[in-house]
Amino acid sequence: PSDFQGKRVVVAGLGVSGVPAAKVLHARGAIVTVVNDGDDARAREQAAELEALGITVRLGDGATLPEGTELIVTAPGWKPDKPLFLAAGKAGVPVWGDVELAWRLRGPDAAPWLAVTGTNGKTTTVQMLASILEAAGLRTAAVGNIGVSLLDAVLGEERYDVLAVELSSYQLHWAPSLRAHSAAVLNLAPDHLDWHGSMEAYAADKGRIYEGNRVACVYNVADKLTEELVREADVEEGCRAVGFTLGTPGLSQLGVVDGVLVDRAFVENRHKNAQELAEVGDVNPPAPHNIANALAAAALARAFGVPATAVRDGLRAFRPDAHRIAHVADIDSVAYVDDSKATNTHAAEASLASYESIVWIAGGLAKGATFDELVTKSARRLRGAVLIGADRALIREALARHAPEVPVVDLDRTDTEAMVQAVTEAKRLAQPGDTVLLAPACASMDMFTNYNQRGDAFAAAVRELEA
Ligand code: ADP
Repeated sequence: PSDFQGKRVVVAGLGVSGVPAAKVLHARGAIVTVVNDGDDARAREQAAELEALGITVRLGDGATLPEGTELIVTAPGWKPDKPLFLAAGKAGVPVWGDVELAWRLRGPDAAPWLAVTGTNGKTTTVQMLASILEAAGLRTAAVGNIGVSLLDAVLGEERYDVLAVELSSYQLHWAPSLRAHSAAVLNLAPDHLDWHGSMEAYAADKGRIYEGNRVACVYNVADKLTEELVREADVEEGCRAVGFTLGTPGLSQLGVVDGVLVDRAFVENRHKNAQELAEVGDVNPPAPHNIANALAAAALARAFGVPATAVRDGLRAFRPDAHRIAHVADIDSVAYVDDSKATNTHAAEASLASYESIVWIAGGLAKGATFDELVTKSARRLRGAVLIGADRALIREALARHAPEVPVVDLDRTDTEAMVQAVTEAKRLAQPGDTVLLAPACASMDMFTNYNQRGDAFAAAVRELEA
């Protein structure tokens, strides 16, 4: 719309969301200034591209609010306590994130959003959801961190019936007017608290996803906090709270009965009180946390009116993304599994709960986490542990406190090649029937570029064993 004509907009942060945002706003007639803290080669390259279009770019100064600013569009990662935002608050200048921008720019006949957030499982759930919606013959896309970008999904050529949207707590923080058709919060464990300031603020940002929902607010029965967020949300009349559980579902819930995923919230036949959706074995992989993801995806799809058969077909067709409980090889009756994406303790806990007898490869950057709870809950499953990375001492100490009988190999190295040694040590500890599981419970950046590279290094090391 012409709303942006002549409007002075500051785009905070270059990068994956800032560059396209600046271009779109410029194309709609806004007077755009991009501000960016960094001033490196990559930033200069992006700046040159934007300047060629006539957009002003200020490198190396993301703190001061340019005179006359009417709107800030920020990269989601920028912390709310930055001076730029404090100045904006004083001056009454609104701040939107990339999600808010996409939401405001969507056309009048735009596809409704089925939205997913949570500490862990977002990407998987959104992809499962898209797979289910596709199986129902709907035009859809998995949107967010991976797959299609939000702006592309909203403004691109492609027409959609419905979007499966992954939202982070950062994005939700900056998306005040977003109203989803239905939304799910998968789980809430402490993460990114340095950004949000407190667990309360983190939960409140996640809870934003339920605001204004029209059909269903999907929560995790096992995670009371998610249910509380639904209760606190201001939703449209007739919008229902729908729970998912790994146990027998109550009324208005989806759950599991005798190995079958069952829906007691959206029942098609009024003579029945439950609708069978799929077998547990249709979920890939059928690990408990992943069945929870499948139930959440199914709940959102059912809220959108998708039939039971499409839930089953969609789940069967779904293939998990790389580095998420990916089976790499079986060698001498030992399975090697890459869950490099388990970058926090909550994820690693789910991962470890998926196997009975494990040689655990862990460590990296702890990001302020403690490991006592994780180790206590997982101790009985551990055949042994191999520790790598900068903060491995924290895990070693937790193991010594809560699982002193578990043999630990502490690799005092943080070079990329350490993974080869880690896998060799793990093989030595493993016995037939065991699983060697890379579930680091830590970020990867001390040793690797990202979790992908860490997972690739693990897989390569396993293949070396095989050779
Ligand atoms: P996100 O997009 O939220 O980071 P992913 O789907 O990429 O989530 O999964 C990240 C990791 O979190 C997985 O590798 C797995 O270890 C763990 N995980 C996935 N789903 C869940 C869940 N429902 N609860 C706890 N941990 C999970």
